[in-house]
Amino acid sequence: MEFSEVALEKDLNNMRKYYGSGKTKEASWRKSQLDGLRNFIIENEENILKALKKDLGKHHVEAFRDEVGILKKSIDLARKSFKQWMAGKEAKLPQIALLSSAEIVAEPLGLVLIISSWNFPFGLSLEPLIGAIAAGNIVVLKPSELAPASSSLLFTILPKYLDINGIKIVEGGSDVGEILLQQKWNKIFFTGSTRVGRLVLSAAVENLTPVTLELGGKCPALVDSLSTCWDREVAAKRILVAKYGSCAGQACIAIDYVLVEKRFSSTLVELLKEGIKKMFGDDPKGSNTIARMVNKHHSYRIKGFLNDPKVKKSVVFGGSVEDDKLFIEPTILLDPPLDSAVMTEEIFGPILPIITVERIEDSIEFINSKPKALAIYAFTKNKTLQKRLVSETSSGSIVFNDAILQYAADTLPFGGVGECGFGKYHGKFSFDLFSHYKAVARRSYYTDFWFRFPPWNLNKLQL
Ligand code: NAD
Repeated sequence: MEFSEVALEKDLNNMRKYYGSGKTKEASWRKSQLDGLRNFIIENEENILKALKKDLGKHHVEAFRDEVGILKKSIDLARKSFKQWMAGKEAKLPQIALLSSAEIVAEPLGLVLIISSWNFPFGLSLEPLIGAIAAGNIVVLKPSELAPASSSLLFTILPKYLDINGIKIVEGGSDVGEILLQQKWNKIFFTGSTRVGRLVLSAAVENLTPVTLELGGKCPALVDSLSTCWDREVAAKRILVAKYGSCAGQACIAIDYVLVEKRFSSTLVELLKEGIKKMFGDDPKGSNTIARMVNKHHSYRIKGFLNDPKVKKSVVFGGSVEDDKLFIEPTILLDPPLDSAVMTEEIFGPILPIITVERIEDSIEFINSKPKALAIYAFTKNKTLQKRLVSETSSGSIVFNDAILQYAADTLPFGGVGECGFGKYHGKFSFDLFSHYKAVARRSYYTDFWFRFPPWNLNKLQL
């Protein structure tokens, strides 16, 4: 159906009226919508996996692991916990308020706009939706036009499972996004690029709308000179899956580059090469276990990194690109120039630069010289180094001896700091993000401290 601004405004007015009726605040409404989301995922699992294959070439196991599986878990947690989350929490008032009681009440924010990205088109659309619904909000969701099969499934099928008076899916690209941003919202939740994030923030200024920005950046991983063969192999395997095995590196928390001591770099490169062969075979081009670039534009962008002659010289594995198949071979670079685009821009594809440092501790200075990362990964058993990394660097998350798995943890807040965004979600954090915590104080009409009220005089000061 054609997008129409007039129809949108009418729909939004109706949605606001619906919200005004108080219906979406009821626990029964929240439960029925979470049930609807769950049924959508369960009954359409095959269609979801097919859409992800079509849009991004994701293997169905990868697609299940990263989207369907995590979503089911998140919905189940919200279904089980939302009543407890929405219950008021008792609080205390100071002694001056004798005979009183207080509580903190979570109230929904109202009309929420969710704009999402294409790399995890279901996860990044529905994960915030779960929190918004659990908190009793009404929602307009716009998935990314760059994953059209996924966007279409959300647009055509998901509404059949939800209350369309309170939840609306809109399809479209930047033009539709711009129109949406001109409307009055009570909250905007945006996942995407820093460039569009800035536009979202400036649009929100007009109505002082609270905004959450889930943006990108370059996530470093440092690898200590691990001493046992076992540790080294496990580290290599986890690095590879975090780079090539989750949407082929098109993930905001994918490892962007690796920092390693010079003396250990050739060992690491060999381990990674062997690992790539084990995971994707001798000819990864034929492999159906590695996702494809989302479109030609992104494929050319990655090719552009490799076309820089100085970067080309640093290729120690892979490097081939098949534009027509949107395929980029898993590629490893050793010490590409630090001022080349591959080291200054977010890579968002299957190229892994390895940057050597003299001592692994030098990584801290290197990381701190760059904009804050969404995630820092460190493969090290050195407790002193772990402590230093936690206290001396800043990032959305920091993970030791693994990567990406923090996304699946509903007990941890997921979000950025600095240029990679702000606001935290997942699990209870999502509920908090879409709620206003209202302070409620109740007093009795009995008993007041006499010194609280004028007229004041010196006697009252000398208590
Ligand atoms: P994008 O900013 O181009 O698009 C994101 C969404 O914004 C899409 O739905 C798009 O249609 C919409 N949009 C585009 N232009 C708009 C405009 N002018 N006004 C309103 N809406 C507009 O980003 P992308 O290509 O989808 O995503 C890539 C970036 O997103 C990367 O930097 C990646 O790291 C980041 N990302 C971050 C997270 C996270 O959780 N932090 C997750 C996924 C992707």
